Amino acid sequence: MYGKRLFPGGIHPQEGRNGKAVNGANPITELPASKRVVIPMSQHGGAPAKVIVAKGDPVRVGQKIGEAAAFVSAPVHSSVSGTVVDIIRTMTFSGVEVEAVVIDNDFRDEWMELCPPADPESMTPKEAIGVIREAGIVGMGGATFPTPVKLSIAPDKHFEKLIVNGAECEPYLTADHRLMLERAPEIIDAVSLLLKIFSVPEAIIGVEQNKPDAIAALQNAAAGNPAIRVQPLPVRYPQGGEKQLIYALTKRVVPAGGLPIDAGCVVLNAATCYAIYKALREGKPLVRRITTVGGLVQEPHNFLVRIGTPVRDLLRACGGTLPGTCKLISGGPMMGTAFTDIDIPVTKGCSGILALGKEAVDPEESPCIRCGRCMRACPMNLQPMKMDHLIRAERFDEADKVGVMNCIECGACTFVCPAKRLLTQSFRAGKRIVNIRRRQQKAREDAEKAALAAKEATKEAAQDDKRKEG
Ligand code: SF4
Ligand code: SF4
Repeated sequence: MYGKRLFPGGIHPQEGRNGKAVNGANPITELPASKRVVIPMSQHGGAPAKVIVAKGDPVRVGQKIGEAAAFVSAPVHSSVSGTVVDIIRTMTFSGVEVEAVVIDNDFRDEWMELCPPADPESMTPKEAIGVIREAGIVGMGGATFPTPVKLSIAPDKHFEKLIVNGAECEPYLTADHRLMLERAPEIIDAVSLLLKIFSVPEAIIGVEQNKPDAIAALQNAAAGNPAIRVQPLPVRYPQGGEKQLIYALTKRVVPAGGLPIDAGCVVLNAATCYAIYKALREGKPLVRRITTVGGLVQEPHNFLVRIGTPVRDLLRACGGTLPGTCKLISGGPMMGTAFTDIDIPVTKGCSGILALGKEAVDPEESPCIRCGRCMRACPMNLQPMKMDHLIRAERFDEADKVGVMNCIECGACTFVCPAKRLLTQSFRAGKRIVNIRRRQQKAREDAEKAALAAKEATKEAAQDDKRKEG
């Protein structure tokens, strides 16, 4: 369908204008625990968790401190043992202030009592989802959508293939690479468990070819299980996009506006699978993750870091940033978000902290020269120049019609644009407005329906009255 490529469009950012943008995959090292952690209640898609501890409470590692507040939500746990010293509002990488629990570490590292499932192999899907929910597991590739919600398959859908995302296609990021290399048996164990519990016949783990050691480690670990296939993939951004990965591995197409399950697939990141292993085998909730610290820092690292650790401590452990640093990014350079406050805490979805130079600063835009490069780069077959034109002209309904809501904000179009147009930013803003308008439209329609129903009811009541009088 797309010639030799496994999805339409795409780019090679490593070889592009950022120059050689990879620091090398450093082994995982544990970052010493901080004196104080600040643990946000909103580290996931959906409703923020509700704080269930109070100032002065003692807590242990793994103790629940925030309860999921809705079906699409996730509980939050303490990553240290110590005392709750405050409940505050704190800034997060998303640029939004949220409620957070501040805990002073007593450095005893005392865990709460762990109750791992006695026999995970024989769990029902409902039981496994319950354990995964209680462990606070969310998509760790950056999307942070609650994993139990993904695994709660509607009765009319069929979970036929488990897709494990080990592509890690953004430059600089090597956290998943090291995790797949150093914890391959655990990841494979989690995948085997999920296949058994959910009665799914096949799992495919997609890994870009630039990680041959991780591919070999996973293939070794999966050797005894023919239901698990480790598939090397060409290096092409955004290979790790859900729709792109599903197509590359299965040739199935997720319909526009649809979800992976509409193509019979559930996609989990490799780090999410590792978190599932910890929950199902050891009864441990998600309190630590691997985060790459790279770019313009003295010594890049892949840290095993406790959730709630301030970025300041990660940068310090790397020897600080180098001269020429212009921007700090959480996540990868293509899809990550810029931040300035280094006291922001690491959250469940934080795959990387990058210090970038002047190439990361927004350039001055010039008018579109209609070269069409953005269209050729778009992995969603969209028309970026047209969408950008419509959004800037505030013609949001038309932008909606030409598919702006299908934009995955991968940044490929912005990357190739010779006029340096800030296309992705334009789409992000445009999508927000289209979403608001859709909600407003729905509210208007609901109100009209309610008014109509009320009118009908009044009419019927009047007719009833008339009949009675008659
Ligand atoms: S790549 Fe840039 S200049 Fe070329 S058509 Fe797209 S928006 Fe216009
Ligand atoms: S940011 Fe959106 S429009 Fe641009 S290439 Fe990615 S999917 Fe296409």
